[in-house]
Amino acid sequence: MDHTKQTTNNDNWTVKDSELLYGLDRWGKEYFSINEKGNITVSPKGKKEESLDLMLLMKELKSRNLKSPLLLRFDDILEDRLEKLNQAFDSAISHYNYKGIYKGVYPIKCNQQRHVVEEIVACGRKWHFGLEAGSKAELLIALSLLNDPEALLICNGYKDKRYIETAILARQIGRQPIVVIEQSEEVDRIIQACKELGSAPLIGIRAKLSSQSNGRWGNSIGDKSKFGLSIPEILKAVEKLNNAGLLQELILLHFHLGSQINNIAILKNALQEAGQIYIELNRLGAPMGHLDVGGGLGIDYDGSQTATSASTNYSLQNYANDVVATIQECCQANHINVPTLISESGRAITSHFSLLIFNILGTSSVLRDVPPAKGKECLSVQNLRETLLSLSQYSENDLSKLQEAWNDALKFKEDALAAFRLGYIDLVERAMAEQLTWACAQALTTKLSKDQLIPKELRALKTALAETYYANISIFRSAPDTWAIEQLFPIMPIHRLQEKPNKLGDFADLTCDSDGKLSKFIDNGKVKSLLELHSINTGEDYWIGMFLGGAYQEVLGNLHNLFGTTNSIHIRLAENGGYKLDHVIRGNSKAEVLRAMEHESEQVLERLRIASESAIQKGTLKINDAQRFIDHIETSLRQSTYLQEKN
Ligand SMILES: *Cc1c(COP(=O)(O)O)cnc(C)c1O
Repeated sequence: MDHTKQTTNNDNWTVKDSELLYGLDRWGKEYFSINEKGNITVSPKGKKEESLDLMLLMKELKSRNLKSPLLLRFDDILEDRLEKLNQAFDSAISHYNYKGIYKGVYPIKCNQQRHVVEEIVACGRKWHFGLEAGSKAELLIALSLLNDPEALLICNGYKDKRYIETAILARQIGRQPIVVIEQSEEVDRIIQACKELGSAPLIGIRAKLSSQSNGRWGNSIGDKSKFGLSIPEILKAVEKLNNAGLLQELILLHFHLGSQINNIAILKNALQEAGQIYIELNRLGAPMGHLDVGGGLGIDYDGSQTATSASTNYSLQNYANDVVATIQECCQANHINVPTLISESGRAITSHFSLLIFNILGTSSVLRDVPPAKGKECLSVQNLRETLLSLSQYSENDLSKLQEAWNDALKFKEDALAAFRLGYIDLVERAMAEQLTWACAQALTTKLSKDQLIPKELRALKTALAETYYANISIFRSAPDTWAIEQLFPIMPIHRLQEKPNKLGDFADLTCDSDGKLSKFIDNGKVKSLLELHSINTGEDYWIGMFLGGAYQEVLGNLHNLFGTTNSIHIRLAENGGYKLDHVIRGNSKAEVLRAMEHESEQVLERLRIASESAIQKGTLKINDAQRFIDHIETSLRQSTYLQEKN
């Protein structure tokens, strides 16, 4: 039946081919590879010897009744990322003989989940790694979890008086919050709060740099950005702080270029500019001592190492080297002590550690098998049959003939549609005409499989013929940035990689939204609209992984169509090999997502109970069935919002 299945020569296909095809060797480097069974393995500590077979893991989780979709969080990866970030700065510091230290902070907004923040604080203690808060709520998380007196707590975001007062008081319980001035008005608020409380917070100032970043978040800086103080504003703030006797608390200069800096040249310019401002602040009498380069350290999502939006043209080490070397140069030239360097790298710390795995519920594509002829057929169907025949006879080099035949096919299909509208042909004949048109398209794309100069419209046929894979997720919940800002993540099957993929497809999610699709895939610096996939084997799971989604996706995810969070599982490598599940965080039940919209499950249940009672009275529902119905509702309220796997 299925004419899309290309004849594949599996003997020649190896896991190496899969690695190249999906770019795993480029973006997965330290953490992901493929074993000889064709399954993806995770090496959470960045060493190939200690690895977990993802397929095996998924099967074992399934036996614990933890079914896909699942969010797997590898805390060892989180720890390893922290280690790599600190190592990169340590090695730059010793390479350039920098006379200061690096003391990073984790921006909580990247992933505020308690287990994640706790893990970062615990693992980061050896470097006195701190936290960054961008709102009052995040400040509460940071204050309660950061109990290392040497770690920094950077307070960003707009601040009212209470925010400032909380920070002042927290200093007295041994925390080190630095209140970063983001707006001119905050200067007066700080001065006021200090007067009232009789003590002061540590103060930082955020500069609006003129160096322009490009890319998605580029407008976080520049003259029009909504954050930070311009140079005249900075001078005014310094004067005010000085008059209020608070200049001695000004210890930090901050800037933030926007997330995912693609091009290192932009960072260098910004560093030079910030370096000069730092020196000026020093000259004006502020003690300073800290320079915070903000976030923006990028992730190479497609592994292309280019200055494109899904990539970066620098490595972690390049980044650290540039920060250290540029600031050192600046300070040396001006005979000023170098500052403690701070970065607020969120994406770079959390992207790798979480991995979304979802199952495929089924596939669909246009019917394109040739319908058997039956008796006398209408003219357009006859014509389409002839066109199909001629298509199979032309050689693949006969591009113009092939194109002409396709134009004919489209014309005959139009004829059939017109005839149907006028009542000359019936539904069966119309269906035949459509199916034959797709059969022509299939014949054509099979001919055009080689790399040739294929006209654009013929190329589009591939997309039209592609398979839709129905994914048991909501992208609005689990991959919101793919929809909101067309972000690319590596997406690929986690098994069957020793097998040549024989389909091209994209993914449709569970929501009733035509935007609920994953149809943009990494392609080594480019983007492709279809992904190579396998045909589904009956009775077998087909599991797809979305990688590098640990930053921002969970928190930006929304309840569109009331799909709640998936189960998330924290996994650590065990001492004796193998793994242990540190935390299992149950995904939202239907009762929970209903409650989020003010629908109480008790009410839902009660209304349906009343409705079924009256149906019993009317005799349209048997008592047994009424009970079964209520049982269904009760169970359903307790269960996940996702589809239950059939296997
Ligand atoms: C968002 C943000 C960050 C984190 O940026 P990443 O690109 O994730 O490292 C850091 N600092 C500030 C001020 C931010 O707004």
